[in-house]
Amino acid sequence: MDPQKDTKLREFIRKLALLNAVRHDGKAQTGPVIGKLLGEKPELRARAKEITRLVSEVVHKVNDLSSKKQKSIVEERWAEALVKGKVEEERRLPPLSNVSKYAQVITRFSPNPDCVLHLGSARAIVLCYKYVCMYNGKFILRFEDTDPKLKRPVLEFYDRIREDLAWLKCKPDEEYIQSDRISIYYEYAEKLLKDGKAYVCTCPPEQFREKVSAGKPCKCRDLPPEEHVSRWQCMLEGGYKEGEAVVRVKTDLSHPNPAVRDWPALRVINSEKHPHPRIGSKCHVWPLYNFACGIDDHLMGVTHIIRGKEHLTNMVRQNYMYKYLGWQYPEAIHYGRLKITGASLSKSEIVQGIRAGLYESWDDPRLATFAALRKRGITSEAIKKLIIDVGPKTSDIVISWENLYAYNRKIIDPRANRYFFVENPIQLTVRNIPKSFTAKLSLHPDHPERGFREYVIEPREDSSADFWVSRNDLNALGVGRLVRFMGLFNVKIEEADTYSAEASFMSEAYEKARKAEAPLIHWIPIGVGMPCQVVMPDATIAEGIAETYCKQLKPNDTIQFERFGFVRIEEINTKVIAYYAHR
Ligand SMILES: [Zn+2]
Repeated sequence: MDPQKDTKLREFIRKLALLNAVRHDGKAQTGPVIGKLLGEKPELRARAKEITRLVSEVVHKVNDLSSKKQKSIVEERWAEALVKGKVEEERRLPPLSNVSKYAQVITRFSPNPDCVLHLGSARAIVLCYKYVCMYNGKFILRFEDTDPKLKRPVLEFYDRIREDLAWLKCKPDEEYIQSDRISIYYEYAEKLLKDGKAYVCTCPPEQFREKVSAGKPCKCRDLPPEEHVSRWQCMLEGGYKEGEAVVRVKTDLSHPNPAVRDWPALRVINSEKHPHPRIGSKCHVWPLYNFACGIDDHLMGVTHIIRGKEHLTNMVRQNYMYKYLGWQYPEAIHYGRLKITGASLSKSEIVQGIRAGLYESWDDPRLATFAALRKRGITSEAIKKLIIDVGPKTSDIVISWENLYAYNRKIIDPRANRYFFVENPIQLTVRNIPKSFTAKLSLHPDHPERGFREYVIEPREDSSADFWVSRNDLNALGVGRLVRFMGLFNVKIEEADTYSAEASFMSEAYEKARKAEAPLIHWIPIGVGMPCQVVMPDATIAEGIAETYCKQLKPNDTIQFERFGFVRIEEINTKVIAYYAHR
């Protein structure tokens, strides 16, 4: 083959793959790319096998790129092909304000690595990331880990958070860790102290609170800046113990909200008692949230802060500091609370539950952590679609698990192949089977090309055959009913007790079952099943038998157990272990 032609062809496939990836949330699919390629270049049909190999190789490489990277390549080279997709995305999120004021839109997601991420963080992440995609900006991940005492960071969570962002396909362009930046915060503290815009308060906390709630200065506030600079030195050198000195930023002592008045910026922590997991005991003066966050947002060039409205007061506090430093406060979007009914979204509840042994791990199916959702087969696409539809509204919003499931179902239903899982199996002997039958059950009703599970039912000499069916079904149906074995034949239940049941063959045609309004049940011939456990959302386990066809599945595959629900495969060996997603 002509190597130059080969390079050209490869490049063309790359274009198709990139466009496909951009339209499908960063994941190009080999099938549609081949279809498109052969549609445009029918002469390649003769080389289908070679083309398939080549396309899947290129698709693989394209899928290794971050979705932002994919998008920027497409925008640079084939922007016109994107127009349709782009309009759709922009229409769905309202535009950001004052974008033209800035050279580039920069957003940040800034978690404290003291817990894993959960659904409650999705809004901040997805909105920040999607806006950056919309404006071709920059997305920053910033670990806010400067409280080794009350919100103590934990090493494993830095990586878990990175993993969660990668899973959401919201990969940051830059990453910062605040505990690496302590000297920067010290520098600005000193500047504010020197300028008389901050002071080191050594009053007992009670005394300070009393003064400030009365709108009066404490005895430290009006001392000359030199005194505060020397107190600051003393603070750094370890001259004050925990609780003995606080750097406070001056605000308005008559501010109507007492929480705004002279807010704390840095304080002393007993570093022997509360070492930091990354830097140990070598630092004992730690910045507080508003100080570190406010300084970083400016220094990192954040243009749009997108966060919950519980941060409104923080903006008021930080504004004083911004004015003192001659900085301009970024655009701030404060969205309302997002509540998911039935999910524990409070970090402290999750952490306490794990500590108390109530939950087994961070991915316990009862939790709404990303790790747990991932394990259950909830896709990141579903989460993102839901968040974008909700948007950055300022009103509080309550959604239910069912809302999320509905988004997820739309995404996984076309992908998920169908299998039978008989929960609480009971042996059912069907008698009077007149001949042998072949059941061809499609792996997916809309995709016959994916193939079938095929069962040949060969009755014994006495015209009987044995099946596993679910006790739940028999209990619900009762004796005397006509029921249809999906894809096979119709039987009448003659007898049922705790461990076994009997039925008689009645007819083959589906039409007869339909006319009689016979319920459909699923079944597995005895001898072709494997044990299966499905972990349910309440952490109970549904036990039963799955078709041996499940052996062809791999961990992470999402399938539908018909009449049971969608599940994600966790493990396949001599038995199937799966996690339940939803109906
Ligand atoms: Zn004081």
